[in-house]
Amino acid sequence: MTHWGYWKIKKRYVPKELCSYRKFIPIDSFEMFNNKQLVDLVRQSKDRTSFIIPQYDLIAVLQDNNSLSVTYKDGIYTIPVEVKKPNFGGKYYFFHCPKCIKRMRKLYCVNGFYQCRKCANLGYYSQRLRLSERNLYGEVKIKEKLKKQGGSLEIKPSRVHKTTLQRHRIDYVQYDKKYYDATISELIQWYGEKRVAPLVEETYWPPSGLLNAYYY
Ligand SMILES: [Zn+2]
Repeated sequence: MTHWGYWKIKKRYVPKELCSYRKFIPIDSFEMFNNKQLVDLVRQSKDRTSFIIPQYDLIAVLQDNNSLSVTYKDGIYTIPVEVKKPNFGGKYYFFHCPKCIKRMRKLYCVNGFYQCRKCANLGYYSQRLRLSERNLYGEVKIKEKLKKQGGSLEIKPSRVHKTTLQRHRIDYVQYDKKYYDATISELIQWYGEKRVAPLVEETYWPPSGLLNAYYY
C-alpha cells in the first residue's frame, strides 16, 4: 500500500493555482484609500499617478473626486469611486465597476481593463477550484495564517492561545481528510476503481504530529 497517487496530485497543484490568481492584479478600494498617507502623497504629487502596470501601458491617475482616470494600450476609461460615511463614523471607499457600474470593493485587470469579478467571469477563487483543490486551499490558508503569526501547526505562535492553535489543527485535519477523500474519488473517475484501489490506503491517516487533532 502506498500513498503515491495522493502525494503526486498534492504536489502538482499547490503553486500553479495560487499564482494564476495574481495575474489579474486585483485592486481593493479599502486597502487603496485607507492608506491615508499614501493617498495624500499621490494627491500632492504633480502627476497624481496612483499606479502603473507596464505590460498594458496602463497609468491610473487620481482625480479630485477620488475616481481614477485610466489610460492604457486600448484607450481611456474611468473607475468611479464612491465615499460612504456610515453613522458610526469613518469613511469607506468603494469602486464602481466600469462595465456594469455596480459598487464593488475589488476590481480585476483583464488585459488592462479593470472590472468586477462578475464581468470578468472569475467567480471567487475558491469557487473555481475542484473539490480536492478547494480543501487543499483551506489547508494552505491555515498554514499561511500561522506562519504570519510567527509559528506553525507544530510550533505555537507566542500571541496565539493554545486552544486557538488546537482549533486550527482540527480544522486543518478536517480539510486534509476531505482533501484525501475527494482526491481518491477524482483518481477513480480518471483511472477507474480497479487501477486506483491497489494504490491507495483504504482509510485516511492524518499527518504525523496532528493525531491528537484527529482524535480530539
Ligand atoms: Zn461589473
